[in-house]
Amino acid sequence: MEKMRSAMKKCCMHPDQAHCKGKIKAAHALQNNKIISILAGSERHVYMMNTKKKPLLIPMRDGEIIPIVELSKTSANDATTETCFCDLHDNIAFAVIEKGAPDFDETSEKMKFIYAYKAFIFEYYKQRIGLDIFRSNFKENPYPFLSVDMVGMYRMLLLKEQEFEPIKSHFDEQIVAGTFDGVVTCAIKIPEQIKFADYAYIAPDYDMNGKKTKHTVKGSMHRVAITIFPETNQSWLLLSCLKSEQYIYEILFQQLKTASLPKLKFYINLVLPLYSENMVLSTELWEFWDEEVQMAYTYYANLEGKDAVVMGKGIGFGLNNAACQKSDDVYNNSPKINLFI
Ligand SMILES: [Zn+2]
Repeated sequence: MEKMRSAMKKCCMHPDQAHCKGKIKAAHALQNNKIISILAGSERHVYMMNTKKKPLLIPMRDGEIIPIVELSKTSANDATTETCFCDLHDNIAFAVIEKGAPDFDETSEKMKFIYAYKAFIFEYYKQRIGLDIFRSNFKENPYPFLSVDMVGMYRMLLLKEQEFEPIKSHFDEQIVAGTFDGVVTCAIKIPEQIKFADYAYIAPDYDMNGKKTKHTVKGSMHRVAITIFPETNQSWLLLSCLKSEQYIYEILFQQLKTASLPKLKFYINLVLPLYSENMVLSTELWEFWDEEVQMAYTYYANLEGKDAVVMGKGIGFGLNNAACQKSDDVYNNSPKINLFI
């Protein structure tokens, strides 16, 4: 696993491969000059799960050994970077939202499209490289890859590949044509500067009232590209999917748009820590939490497989329970892990 971790290949994900130019550099999924710099402050550090560091191996009571990736201080220059764009394409593909561009404008279809593409393509890259590394390591030494866990992981990667490809094709067609169509974005303004940022390409299991989202159609999972980030005086939560998938997430989008601020924060607090491998936390937020909350956060962020499913069900139950209360006061009681300090 360690070998797989350290072997992230460099390649450009832009569809116009014929015109790649310059080195494949470490591109930021969350813009360094706009988003990360707000969180990093004068020390230029944030807290993140550092997957490039050796994980702690924690023995559990049942004899199983669980790898735990800790959150650690990360330089702003390294936060959320992957080697997935050449110099030229990193510059042109994201110019609309990069340094020098104005703040996010919810009426701009271009900006919404580019945020969605960015969250998607960085996750796509990690998925594709994961599959490549799995295959090449298997060739070298098949034995460790024959365990039930590894076979399960390989199947999951293959299924994900099938699910990601049509989305990649859509984005590629639009980018080559210079158009920004076919993507629906739900943009939620949060009227304060949040102390964290995140990007993800995930299928939330529950809506804001704890009802299951029907994200899997004919065995294929449909995800939303999520970006949440601070600006100077406010913050944005963006969720996007293809127009052809809009019917799956219509209810969730509508709920998010009309929810009270405490209810919105309640949902984000419950759901994001479970999907938080890309989460960037300001030093202020991380140090505000006591050791118990830091441990709880690290635990949630590391949950995978069956354990994550069990926790996900607990979250669904919590959301449903809160939605059944007579008053909205329940949303004012923030859960243990509170991202909004
Ligand atoms: Zn390129």
